[in-house]
Amino acid sequence: LEPDYQFMIRVRMPGGLATPKQWLEMDRLATTYANGTLKLTTRQTFQLHGVLKWNLKQTMKEINEALFTTLAACGDVNRNVMCTPNPNLSDVHYEVYEAAKKISDHLLPQTPAYHEIWLDGEKVIDTSVGQEIEPIYGPTYLPRKFKIGIAVPPSNDVDIYSQDLGFIAIEEDGELKGFNVAVGGGMGMTHGDYRTYPQIARVIGFCPTDKVVDVAEKIVLVQRDYGNRSNRKNARLKYTIDSRGIEWFKTELQNRLGWELEEARPFHFTHTGDQFGWVKGNKKWHLTLFIPSGRVKDDEETQFLTGLREIAKIHTGEFRLTPNQNVIIANITAKKKKEIEKLVEQYHLAGGTYASPLWQNSMSCVGFPTCGLAMAESERYFPTLLKKIEAITKEVGLKQNEIVIRMSGCPNGCSRPALAEIGFIGKAPGKYNLYLGGGFAGNRLNKLYKENIGEKEILEALYPIFQHYAKERKEGERFGDFVIRTGYVEEVHSGLDFHGS
Ligand code: SF4
Repeated sequence: LEPDYQFMIRVRMPGGLATPKQWLEMDRLATTYANGTLKLTTRQTFQLHGVLKWNLKQTMKEINEALFTTLAACGDVNRNVMCTPNPNLSDVHYEVYEAAKKISDHLLPQTPAYHEIWLDGEKVIDTSVGQEIEPIYGPTYLPRKFKIGIAVPPSNDVDIYSQDLGFIAIEEDGELKGFNVAVGGGMGMTHGDYRTYPQIARVIGFCPTDKVVDVAEKIVLVQRDYGNRSNRKNARLKYTIDSRGIEWFKTELQNRLGWELEEARPFHFTHTGDQFGWVKGNKKWHLTLFIPSGRVKDDEETQFLTGLREIAKIHTGEFRLTPNQNVIIANITAKKKKEIEKLVEQYHLAGGTYASPLWQNSMSCVGFPTCGLAMAESERYFPTLLKKIEAITKEVGLKQNEIVIRMSGCPNGCSRPALAEIGFIGKAPGKYNLYLGGGFAGNRLNKLYKENIGEKEILEALYPIFQHYAKERKEGERFGDFVIRTGYVEEVHSGLDFHGS
């Protein structure tokens, strides 16, 4: 007898776009083959959890029939390309989405193996020509996964500094002029191994809009050829750049491009979280809903699974998954707005516990029991901790304050905790490292404040800092800036001083 092996399936969907029909299909697959919930991820895609081995192939087939794919959603390739998620807000947003899609399509592996294995395609591969089949990845693919995101300032919702390659849209007079290029970000590290660290991407120049695919390809090629292939823990682009130097990287890129990036243009990020509620853009309405930990399910308080299903049945626009694990019901006509408002109310999809600024700026990863890499609880425990933290903030008069709080069950950092103003990274069941001092706009790494502590010590550690912040913060001063100014932690300028000073 074989054990009941179960799997996670992740979809590739650049920019997080799903039609109502696709939403309904993913809902059906989740309730037929998975654990009855849909997981919205921090890279703007769907995951199905708990798919049993004998249902794997059928589920993949049905995902493809819904016009999604899971090709290159995992593995040592370019992953799901992220972008600021609502292309209907402005023409610039639309162009940025198109750029994300083009990059994603261009960097897709060409191998027919996916179709052969999962979709019963005929075996067509000739291993003697393997190299030609993969013009970008070659026979050995990349040394490690590769992540790309595009941000439209002032929103840094894609956490541009966490990406291997980030493009920052530069808009002048309402027109998209091109992108600043940022390289070498990444969240993952290993506890106790100081040769691994989270890093923030560095801006190296500007490229015009029509060159964005070329730049993405050449950067992937540099990493393919120079990334560390002997140690997977040091294989991400951030280590390639840190070991050889940013000037070396720029020269190598320029040689491959055959032209030089222009000087980076000014930009300004104000926040990393989503903006909730109704907004009008391009003559249609868009509603952003907070989904706790990105888990679309029904419970006593909210019925996200049923509610979004009912909305998908009548919605004529699209769904946009956000980089913060939330969802935008996009492109709603004035006529449909009322119907959707009714459903939002009926299924309690807005308001209640989750309407507070602390919740709406929070994220947690999957953790136990679903993620095989977890060292501690995350999604299941985070609400309990957040409620207790919120009680303190209310007590000391910080009820209306936005503070970015994130938790991960291990140092891979899927919820990007190293960029949070307050970050928790799991060490063991019930124990977390507590980090403070990330930038509210996702532009600064945080620093270890207390190591390997449980809930009681976490609350004891945070209480006096919140009191202090409530009393002595300057006008408009963010929590992450305050804890640095008042000396709780040192400012981290680069991943190279994340562990020490
Ligand atoms: Fe799993 Fe770690 Fe990612 Fe959390 S951060 S989902 S525990 S790999």
